[in-house]
Amino acid sequence: MEIRSLSATGIRDFLQCVLKVVFRYDREISSVKNDHAKVGIAVHEALEQFTRRMLNKKSFPDASDYEFATNVFMNTATKAGLETMSFYSQGKEMVVNFIDKYDPSEDVLAVEHFFKLETPEGIPIVGAMDKVVRINDDTIAVIDYKTSRTALTNWELQDDIQLSMYDLAASLIWPEYKNRLLFLDYVRIDKRVSTFRTDEDRATFREFLSSIWTQMNKIDEQEVRGRINRLCGWCDYKPYCPEYAALMAKPLPALPQLAEMLDTEFLDHWLDVSEKKSVLTARERELKMIASERFMRDEPIADESRMMHSTQAARTNYDIEEVVEIIPQDDLFSILAVNKARLDRYAKDRPDLKNALGRIAKVNYNAPVFKVRNLSKEEIDEQRVADTDESAA
Ligand code: SF4
Repeated sequence: MEIRSLSATGIRDFLQCVLKVVFRYDREISSVKNDHAKVGIAVHEALEQFTRRMLNKKSFPDASDYEFATNVFMNTATKAGLETMSFYSQGKEMVVNFIDKYDPSEDVLAVEHFFKLETPEGIPIVGAMDKVVRINDDTIAVIDYKTSRTALTNWELQDDIQLSMYDLAASLIWPEYKNRLLFLDYVRIDKRVSTFRTDEDRATFREFLSSIWTQMNKIDEQEVRGRINRLCGWCDYKPYCPEYAALMAKPLPALPQLAEMLDTEFLDHWLDVSEKKSVLTARERELKMIASERFMRDEPIADESRMMHSTQAARTNYDIEEVVEIIPQDDLFSILAVNKARLDRYAKDRPDLKNALGRIAKVNYNAPVFKVRNLSKEEIDEQRVADTDESAA
């Protein structure tokens, strides 16, 4: 199979499931975007056009700029076929919040900068950077907008392929800047996280690209099968994927006797169940969306012997100021609870209280969460030595 260039998305696809690469590059099947992706596209378009407009105006935004950007969002979202109504208000809110924080003094080098270039090893790479800002004579910042609800952790940032790609591309496009800061700007949750790559990181990434490039160009599209994984539920190509269709059609397997499993079998079974759970959860979410749509249109979902019905849990809230007015002071402490998230937000603006709060904080642990991780080479070696010692004894 011939791959013309490497993108961060293409690499992630390859690592996740080679069949996705075949769908994207060989069969050129256009992906079926879900509403989360559509709102992301529309927000990106609005932020790009807004930033370009402000670069021309060189001023703080006024009402007409807000209107311009929200119109771009709405038009792009409707054109993309966004169906979930609540996503329109969420998208507009993201755009407005972004404009609220707009800083006209930023020295913007590029907006939505598309790149298509070759690494020193001759590997063609492509991508687009949302915004590039000059920080000083030595440093630039590459910023990527995200509309997701959770931000990457520091560890994940360090390993993120897209950011490594931006770092490499920026080092080739703007070699006069020796430092590159890499930012993810989470416009939905108003959070910015940053990282950078060292020269050594960049050299390793270039080797990684060479290896991926070689392997991707060896793909035999006739041989490739889908690899069911925990992200299948979000895969744009699942409507075309035979393995996904087979998984959905398959009855749940008979469960093996857990108590008799060897550890290797237990770990395999654990991972297998976790992956299938993620796929099925995503599928359940899709089913719920369709069910709720049908209910809204008053179309019952039923067969000869069954009918779907819906129940809704009610939650009652009380306004704290009104409660304080009614309940006697002496009884208040037995019914009021401190909201930790709100207290944390409050304490952020009152650093003088940090120590006092730290002294009275009581830590409770939730039920443990079990996860499987790969052992490092050193740990595997230690394990082998321990096993040898045990059998010698
Ligand atoms: S649904 Fe899963 S197995 Fe099928 S192409 Fe997508 S990632 Fe691969």
